[in-house]
Amino acid sequence: MAITVQKFGGTSVADAEKIRRCASRAIEVFKKGSQVVVVASARGKQTDELIADAMELNPDPPKREMDMLLSTGEQQTVSLMAMAMDAMGHKAISFTGSQIRMITDGAHGRARIQSIDADVIHRKLDTGHIVIVAGFQGIDAEEDITTLGRGGSDTSAVALAAALKADVCEIYTDVAGIYTTDPRKFPSAVKMGHISYDEMLELASLGAGVMHGRAVEFGKKYDVPIHVRSSMTDEAGTLITHEVSQMEGILVSGATIQKNLAKIGLIAVDNKPGNAAKIFAHLAGAQVIVNDIIQTEISSEKANISFTVGSADLADAKKAIEEIVRQVQCQDVFVRDDIAEVSVVGVGMRSHCGVADRMFKALAVAEVNIDSITTSEIRISCIVDLDDAEKALVAVCEAFELDKPADERTSPG
Ligand code: ASP
Ligand code: MG
Repeated sequence: MAITVQKFGGTSVADAEKIRRCASRAIEVFKKGSQVVVVASARGKQTDELIADAMELNPDPPKREMDMLLSTGEQQTVSLMAMAMDAMGHKAISFTGSQIRMITDGAHGRARIQSIDADVIHRKLDTGHIVIVAGFQGIDAEEDITTLGRGGSDTSAVALAAALKADVCEIYTDVAGIYTTDPRKFPSAVKMGHISYDEMLELASLGAGVMHGRAVEFGKKYDVPIHVRSSMTDEAGTLITHEVSQMEGILVSGATIQKNLAKIGLIAVDNKPGNAAKIFAHLAGAQVIVNDIIQTEISSEKANISFTVGSADLADAKKAIEEIVRQVQCQDVFVRDDIAEVSVVGVGMRSHCGVADRMFKALAVAEVNIDSITTSEIRISCIVDLDDAEKALVAVCEAFELDKPADERTSPG
């Protein structure tokens, strides 16, 4: 029998009326002949409110206690959802993460899922229940409650879909799907019908906040089709799957702009074995997450090294660099925090030429200066002045016709 996993996010279950709407959506799918597992997040802003409650009592709360507290948000939603289904005359049962043996490591606040006992769920599905599981939470080897990090219910849902070998994992949210870019910054952005896991992973790492990146990784690893769609309408959203051949014909599927970035450069570092290793080991030791790294040799003895970090890590990164430059000999260090990164993503660029020049030309016409460029197989990113961020995004979106559905764009050269 088909199995559908449906995940409802916080805004979709914010009040009784919305919970009822989600409950009837699940029942509808059940009536069409699929078994249904619902994964739910805490209602509305409840997780934020619980965090604020904690901060009032202790600005640095023990992480174990924080997870005890935050997991209650999801526990409320799932029991309420089961009650709503019961009132509609449907058999439903809710479970916490611990009841379905959602085992994680012990990293409170950012735990990783290790295993799930699908049997508990299958038994209830086989007796005609809709099973409702609290997202975002698990237990570690000591039976302590853990949470997966903000937005983690997506990951719970996809992991459950994988464990149950579900046919699809539907992620219900307050937007209609994944857009070619953020519609708040480029209002004519369009919803994508289909996108590959790899593209979605790039977009998620570039801060397109629609889905938890780890959820997409799970989907890719266990081959779970993920359907991101609106809880307000029946309209299809965006399907995330493995790459299919028609995706290759699409040059660029999406564009992003990332602010809250900073760049640190080391000028004329002694170019000898071990120096880059020393610099980045020191940054890692300071728990700094480094994004793009560029090194270029400027003479046989000297090289320039620069890298970007999130603004939140800048203070730690600066401190780490000040410590390490004493060992690696460099002429100068510069820091820029007035930057933004504009990126385009698309599997089509693997097999088509002319993507980079089209992007650079668009930025040139808009008179946006490019500070530096980095690429992956399916992404091109340019660092630009923060003041040019909006202009750069619009120029790139227009150049790749991201205001049109993929099949209406000028075909790639
Ligand atoms: N309730 C949690 C959060 O707000 C998990 C989630 O929504 O996915 O981050
Ligand atoms: Mg969420």
